[in-house]
Amino acid sequence: MNECLVCKGKLREQQVTRMQEYGGHWVLIENLPALVCQQCGETYYTPQAHDRVIDLITGGAEPVGVETVAVLDASA
Ligand SMILES: [Zn+2]
Repeated sequence: MNECLVCKGKLREQQVTRMQEYGGHWVLIENLPALVCQQCGETYYTPQAHDRVIDLITGGAEPVGVETVAVLDASA
């Protein structure tokens, strides 16, 4: 895949940070390879990157850091 499905922009491989929920908790995965649209910013994950995320969050990987995340309510 080398073309964005949203805007047909050019995709480039980049390392991104992904937020993923697992078991009621959110985790941040840093330095995940992904294809990012250079035009609209849409991010596409390869099946390998997806598997890597599952491995990390189910394999009990030691966190490299802990962040506090602000929760906002869009319905208010
Ligand atoms: Zn795009």
